[in-house]
Amino acid sequence: LLAIGGAAGGIAAFLPVVIQAIGSWQRIESLLEHPADVPATVNGAPLDKPLSRLALRDVSFSYTGERLNLNEVSFETAVPRRIALVGPSGSGKSTIINLLSRNYDAINGSIMLNDTDIREVDNQKLRSLMAVVSQDTTLFEESIAYNIRIGRLDATDAEVEQAARAAEIHDFIAGLPNDYDTNVGEGGKLLSGGQRQRIVIARAFLRNPQILLLDEATSALDAEAEAAINETLTRISADRMLFSVTHRLSSCRDMDWICVFKDGKMVETGTHDQLLERGGVYAGMWEKQSEIAIGNAGREVAISIE
Ligand code: ATP
Repeated sequence: LLAIGGAAGGIAAFLPVVIQAIGSWQRIESLLEHPADVPATVNGAPLDKPLSRLALRDVSFSYTGERLNLNEVSFETAVPRRIALVGPSGSGKSTIINLLSRNYDAINGSIMLNDTDIREVDNQKLRSLMAVVSQDTTLFEESIAYNIRIGRLDATDAEVEQAARAAEIHDFIAGLPNDYDTNVGEGGKLLSGGQRQRIVIARAFLRNPQILLLDEATSALDAEAEAAINETLTRISADRMLFSVTHRLSSCRDMDWICVFKDGKMVETGTHDQLLERGGVYAGMWEKQSEIAIGNAGREVAISIE
């Protein structure tokens, strides 16, 4: 949610203009809210240059102060790159996304964008750099256009359509009786899971983010819909930095790099092939998923014979 917003001042400057078209102030405001426990950086570094390097340096974090949920995580990457974050449940993957989107600040260490600490970067600039797509992103009981435009409130109709095309949902929308004015129903219930997620991807793409953060963006979908959406995401992230938290390791094969987390530590990194060869945590997870896949395939055969 944070990633679609900005420090309240900047957004508020043009919000009244679109408020009638877009709904109630409170609703939008709650979406754009800056988290209370992260100090806003106003008039900070503009980060003029295109993002070319991103680094985590000995980053540690704790939600409650009782134990470390991330423990001295370091890595550096050129931009653009496609990076998968994998590991068992609770290992700290989403926490990395939370820190990258500055939902929280690290308690130790730093996140560097080029040569600038993320805490020094002007809030509005930071928001405009990033977009998050997660599995539980909200769709409002409003039109499709409304739901896409939440990504950038001043977007023109043409830009909304362009984003929908990039997310490969335009043709579907154009085929609806009220096309972009079609109401998606409560929580988007009139759409399929894949269609909902494409609307959310269009919303993210409308921001033209340099950093795309996917937190289990396709985990609620069946394998076929997931594969189709992954193709779309591969296309739209070609020249952007992509971090993708995923449980499905099959989607890691095309990634440039994989970071494996366990108990808050980054325990392995490498490409899919390198990590399989290493025979460590990732290889163990891969083997387990393959066994489950074979098991499921076997069951399907059994059912179809019956
Ligand atoms: P999953 O695959 O289940 O989403 P994850 O690897 O993304 O897990 P995180 O969500 O990063 O894991 O959580 C890391 C640890 O921090 C877990 O032990 C989790 O219980 C804890 N945690 C996450 N969010 C909070 C929070 N808001 N308050 C307190 N603890 C939290």
